Amino acid sequence: MERTSIIRKTAAELRTRPNLVDYEATRRGFDWDIAREALAGLPGGALNIAYETVVRHAGGRLRDHLAFRFLGQSGAVRDLSYGDLAALTARFANVLRGLDVVRGERVFVLTGRIPELYAAVLGGLRAGCAVSPLFSAFGPEPIATRLNLGQGAVLVTTESLYQRKVAKIRGELTTLRHVLLVGEGGTPTDVPGTHDLGRLMAAASDDFPTVPTRPDELALLHFTSGTTGTPKGAMHVHGAVATHWATGLYALDLHPDDVFWCTADPGWVTGTSYGIIAPLLHGVTSIVDEGDFDAERWYRILHEQKVTVWYTAPTAIRMLMKAGPELAQRFSFPSLRFVASVGEPLNPEAVWWGKEVLGLPIHDNWWQTETGGIMIANVPALDIKPGSMGRPLPGVEAAIVREGKDGLVEVIEEPDVEGELALLRGWPAMLRGYLNNEERYRKCFSGVWYLTGDLARRDADGYFWFVGRKDDVIKSAGHLIGPFEVESALMEHPAVAEAGVIGKPDAMVGEVVKAFVSLKKGFEPSEALRMELLAHARRKLGAAVAPKEIDFATTLPRTRSGKIMRRLLKARELGLPEGDTSTLEAGA
Ligand code: ATP
Ligand code: MG
Repeated sequence: MERTSIIRKTAAELRTRPNLVDYEATRRGFDWDIAREALAGLPGGALNIAYETVVRHAGGRLRDHLAFRFLGQSGAVRDLSYGDLAALTARFANVLRGLDVVRGERVFVLTGRIPELYAAVLGGLRAGCAVSPLFSAFGPEPIATRLNLGQGAVLVTTESLYQRKVAKIRGELTTLRHVLLVGEGGTPTDVPGTHDLGRLMAAASDDFPTVPTRPDELALLHFTSGTTGTPKGAMHVHGAVATHWATGLYALDLHPDDVFWCTADPGWVTGTSYGIIAPLLHGVTSIVDEGDFDAERWYRILHEQKVTVWYTAPTAIRMLMKAGPELAQRFSFPSLRFVASVGEPLNPEAVWWGKEVLGLPIHDNWWQTETGGIMIANVPALDIKPGSMGRPLPGVEAAIVREGKDGLVEVIEEPDVEGELALLRGWPAMLRGYLNNEERYRKCFSGVWYLTGDLARRDADGYFWFVGRKDDVIKSAGHLIGPFEVESALMEHPAVAEAGVIGKPDAMVGEVVKAFVSLKKGFEPSEALRMELLAHARRKLGAAVAPKEIDFATTLPRTRSGKIMRRLLKARELGLPEGDTSTLEAGA
């Protein structure tokens, strides 16, 4: 397939008419009230995410429609309809009330991707509590830090996770009042100091009046990935649901009959905003895989479950690429019509891989824990420029800014200039604070702008290009070098599966570019390959930007949400302390 700098979209290629057809006109005509009006709302201007996602559908024609299909580790399949989910969330809300848990208290959930997690998150919201799903692979210390920071009153977890991780730190969890255990193996749990969730749920009523929360009332606590430092706890409100609705419509292009698969764990914001909320708002069916990544398993799920819209991450795509095309060729994906990715820069190589192997290009989109929802995206109707994260969605004003006068930033109007990516504040899913860190929150803003901490540029066609995180940018001999550009160039070499690039302090030039690469199946590290890669990079990037050093690594350190931790590559290279590693993937 010829690799062009732009992938043109033709009407024939789009199997379904996209929700966003005329980008310019839709943006001009959009304001957030349109999204709010598409929601049902509750009397008196109240708004509750659980009502919008579940309760209203269960009372209508979606009652028997499949909301979630859970694929168990060992092949068991569990289906939940919208009606089932409404009953479960009511039961969970009643369980909370039975334990005297009131509106505004915080419910933490620490489980794998099992139905109880979804019932607890949505049931907690329905009861007017703020909810925080945590990644189940966290160890005791990160669990304690997060629960204490978020003042968790309730923890929902499984018996084995409790025994392994929570029991020993229980004394440190000063705000925690109740632990609800999901039994395993079908038997009730009987652990001192805890409740058996199954028993309480069975005894609870499946009727519960949804709490009429205010749009600005706290709904979700999400911790950032910890890629650049200690994870921050972002606070989100029920009103964020307007952003989830609009982005589910425009960026993920959800249509009523879709079978949607968001591969993210709800312990990360993507797994909640798009693994739970957005697909339910649009009344579609979501696939939830309880298992971990496995290339063959994932291809099989896409194939057997007839997934139509798939939302995944660059790391997963790179791992599929690493597994080789032969594996993919054993499956077919005739139902798949739209693929999107988030979390890290998506190398052009990966966009093309999608087109060649899945028959569809991958659509990159950009957002952060703090933004609560997708902000910049490649949408189905727009041409793709591989390597670009797309254009701002309706309702989102994005700009490239630099430091200006009086401590305020100023917008860079001319195209193709690098600067900090900023968003006009005020979209509904914008964070409303960081837990216990007012000062850091205030620093996110300059006048009307929310500052993302990412560097980017905008081209003359209005496409945004990610350059790097402010913290990761390399300053070498007067040049500012974004690691993404270097990593993408390295990945164009057939031997390279993954690359992580850092700046290494150097007395002469400030910093020199150093790359760590892992190799694809069938390639072995060697001095000859190292020289070849150095030459390849120099050819692609020029001597000023190309890495001076390349090391081979079997894997790169990554967060559990799949982001390369360049700060760790750097700390290890320089023999410095590793800092907060609570989100580091095991074995990395
Ligand atoms: P921390 O803030 O704790 O360092 P983090 O920023 O990785 O962690 P998240 O909120 O999960 O935590 O990630 C958001 C960041 O991920 C963005 O600011 C950006 O740097 C990166 N990112 C997300 N999507 C993209 C994308 N499509 N292209 C490039 N970078 C992306
Ligand atoms: Mg961040």
